[in-house]
Order: sequence, then C-alpha cells, then structure tokens
Amino acid sequence: MPQIDDLPPLREVIRTHDLVAKKQLGQNFLLDLNLTARIARSAGDLAGCDVLEVGPGPGGLTRGLLAEGARRVLAVEKDARCLPALAEIAAACPGRLEVLLGDALEVDVLAHLTPPVRIVSNLPYNVGTELLVRWLTPPLWPPFWQSLTLMFQKEVAERIVAKPGSKAYGRLALLAQWRTEARIVLTLPPEAFVPAPKVHSAVVHLTRLEAPRFPADGAVLARITAMAFNQRRKMLRSSLKALNPAIEEHLRAAGIDPTQRAEEIGLEQFCSLARSIAASG
Ligand code: SAM
Repeated sequence: MPQIDDLPPLREVIRTHDLVAKKQLGQNFLLDLNLTARIARSAGDLAGCDVLEVGPGPGGLTRGLLAEGARRVLAVEKDARCLPALAEIAAACPGRLEVLLGDALEVDVLAHLTPPVRIVSNLPYNVGTELLVRWLTPPLWPPFWQSLTLMFQKEVAERIVAKPGSKAYGRLALLAQWRTEARIVLTLPPEAFVPAPKVHSAVVHLTRLEAPRFPADGAVLARITAMAFNQRRKMLRSSLKALNPAIEEHLRAAGIDPTQRAEEIGLEQFCSLARSIAASG
C-alpha cells in the first residue's frame, strides 16, 4: 500500500482525473507540496486533533495536514470529480481521511468530528466569508473548533485583521476580533495557484478566545455595527438614529463623540455602546 509520500505529484493527479478547474466552484489549486505543508504547519500542532478541511480539491493541502500529523481529516468537497483523487490519499492513510461529498454551507459536520478540532482550508472565494461568519456566530458559537487557518483573497484577509481608521475596518474585523485573536500568517502571489487568480491571497490564523474580548450582547453588537457601517461616512448620531431615540446619550455614555464616524470607533467602545443600549431595554 502506498504511503503519503509515495503518491504521485499533484499535476499528474489533476491530469489523470481530468480535474480541469471550474471557476464557479472557486477552484484555484495549490500544487506545491512544500507550500501546503507550510500552511498546515501555520495551523499549529495538529497531533491529536481532528481537522475540518472545506474544499480539498485534488488534495494538496489534505496531504499536508495528514503529513503534519493530524489525527483525522474530515474533508467536505462539492465537486464529485475530486473523489477518486481523495480516495487515493485515504488509501495511503487508513482511517485518517473521511470525505463528505456536499456543500459546506449545508453539510452537518459536527457528528463527524471529535474534539479538539482545528479548521484549515484554502476556501472557495465565493463562500469563504459566509463560512467564517457562521463559524463565529450562533448557532455554531460557542465554537466546536480551537483555531481557524483559512486562505482568503488578500483583501478579505485584511478586512478580518483591520484596525480602526483603515479603509478595511468594518463589521468583519469587529466580529472576528471580538471573539478571536486574528493575524495574517502568509501572503501568496497569484502564481502560487493553478489557475492563477487575479488577486493576491493570504492565510489568516484565528485562535478562539475563552470569552469575548469585551462583554456585550452579540445580537445588539451585530445590529449596531451593521447600521453604523452601512453608512460609514455618516456621523454616528445620524447613522444610528433609527436604532434608539436616545442614541446621543448612549454614545456619550460609551465615551463616543456623537459626531464621530463608525470607522473611527474601536471594538471596546462599540461593546460599551451595545451594553448601554441593551441596559436601556
Ligand atoms: N484545497 C485545494 C487546494 O488548496 O488546492 C482546493 C482549493 S480551491 C480554492 C476550493 C475548493 O472548494 C475546490 O475544490 C471546490 O470544488 C471546493 N468548493 C467550492 N464550493 C464549495 C462548497 N460550497 N462546499 C464544499 N466545497 C466547495
């Protein structure tokens, strides 16, 4: 039986199984196994962990995760054409790779995973942000995972780690940084992928915090940040007027000047505003 290192190069796998990339499935494959090993290592210690991988494709990152010592990998893939290539990897690692054919937005993965769990994926660009938001919010919060190590378009990665005052700062940064420690660990040029996408990509590593960074009701915080950033150029006293008749008082109570704009306000102040509004009923 072949070991993982005996498997054919990914270019050959793609040729053998005729895996011509489909744009509508966000298929930009990583074929350099040194690179996939590096991404797997950036996820932290995988030994003793189940790893959830969304979109294994021909299995480059899957091989990296298994070679780096993941106890088991659960891979959810929408494209049935990838199954034979993934079956070859499963045969080289008996009992360590389970593949579910389906849409990651619909498949229930929880029954297939044993804690501790890490999520590591080169995400399809069209569902990446939606998956991240789901993994950070109820009903999937409190989380079933210890960390997320995810490849996004660089522009999306920058929105996740953005700080106040930058153009990239907004709802995604607030949500991610409220509940996790998030940092970019690797940036990749288009040529790292086959076919090459139009833009650069980046891997973000998010580690869950035991408790949110500042106390606040998640639903109230989400409502405030949605309204504030939907009109990010407006003063907060205008953009949040419909939220609460006494909004100026709540803003002041949270230490925010009502003429400030959403992009100037940090996470701590948004949480303080959410608490003030929630306390007023
Ligand atoms: N992991 C592989 C790699 O790094 O080379 C492939 C990454 S490619 C960017 C995205 C993968 O996600 C493709 O294999 C694609 O078929 C799959 N995919 C796209 N939409 C999906 C969905 N909704 N659920 C599960 N897999 C999906």
